[in-house]
Amino acid sequence: MKTDLSIIIPIYNEELNIPNLYARLKPVVEKFGISYELVFVNDGSKDRSILLIKELSKTDNTVKYIDLSRNFGHQIAVSAGIDLSVGDSIAIIDADLQDPPELIDIMYKKLKEGYENVYAKRRSRKDKNVIKKAAYKTFYRILARISQVDIPLDTGDFRIMSRKMAEVVKNMPERNKFLRGQIAWAGFKQTFVEYDRDERAAGEPGYTYKKLFQLAFDGITGFSNLPLRIATYSGFVVFFISLVLIGYSLISYFFGNGQIPQGWTSLMISVMFLGGIQLLSLGIIGEYISRIQTDVRQRPLYVVAESNTEK
Ligand code: UDP
Ligand code: MG
Repeated sequence: MKTDLSIIIPIYNEELNIPNLYARLKPVVEKFGISYELVFVNDGSKDRSILLIKELSKTDNTVKYIDLSRNFGHQIAVSAGIDLSVGDSIAIIDADLQDPPELIDIMYKKLKEGYENVYAKRRSRKDKNVIKKAAYKTFYRILARISQVDIPLDTGDFRIMSRKMAEVVKNMPERNKFLRGQIAWAGFKQTFVEYDRDERAAGEPGYTYKKLFQLAFDGITGFSNLPLRIATYSGFVVFFISLVLIGYSLISYFFGNGQIPQGWTSLMISVMFLGGIQLLSLGIIGEYISRIQTDVRQRPLYVVAESNTEK
């Protein structure tokens, strides 16, 4: 059977939001008069999320679930949804109602005007956490400056893409996913709609600081070699400074008035400075290598424990 639209909803401990999300999302898609599926991807939730989803699927055959064997992280949960969904168009939406389901209506119409991707751009965000809010803003701007492709500012994964785009993304082999960047990389005709991002309706964010940093590093390493370049450049700069200092030391040794400079301070500074730059550069190289290693291992991206999807 043909499915026009698949809506992918990654779920990590969202038992408080699933009923409200379902109640708000369902009428929006019903109104389209198209065939659709709601693909809930349970990313190893520790609460009753999967039970609620299975319950919904008993009375509503548009409800599909993919129950992952553990918590793999948001990007991978969404990737699993993309892999196992069958729609001609594919929407991605958060479960916590920060992304208004009503926007899917506007984005879907826009997509049908002839785009391969319509993303939702945040005009404003009502985060309680000002540090997080500032960090997001800064990150998107740094990434835009240093990445080799144009990754849109203030844009998460809330979007609708065509099957054609989804196939491109599915065929990208990297294990460390940064979907919004990968989709930007793919090109085609893309556009956006603006919206005001709400606060999380209930429950705790599943994106801990650790996971956010992971995502930020994946975005940067996946789309820019600038950090490696910085390591190289700082190597050059330090090398030239050291040439000057070596010259100075030799001159004072041979032509000085017999007195070697005391030099504890300069010694300390150079040891610290060199040590710092070396460690930083090693760390940067390590970040890239660890990603190469993840890709070389070729482990499956995720493991499905149970699902009722068509694929
Ligand atoms: N999520 C997930 N796996 C995780 C963390 C989050 O599937 O490890 C889901 C979560 O249930 C939600 C979406 O990803 O539907 C966005 O997560 P969250 O609201 O915590 O992120 P934020 O809005 O703070 O960026
Ligand atoms: Mg959220």
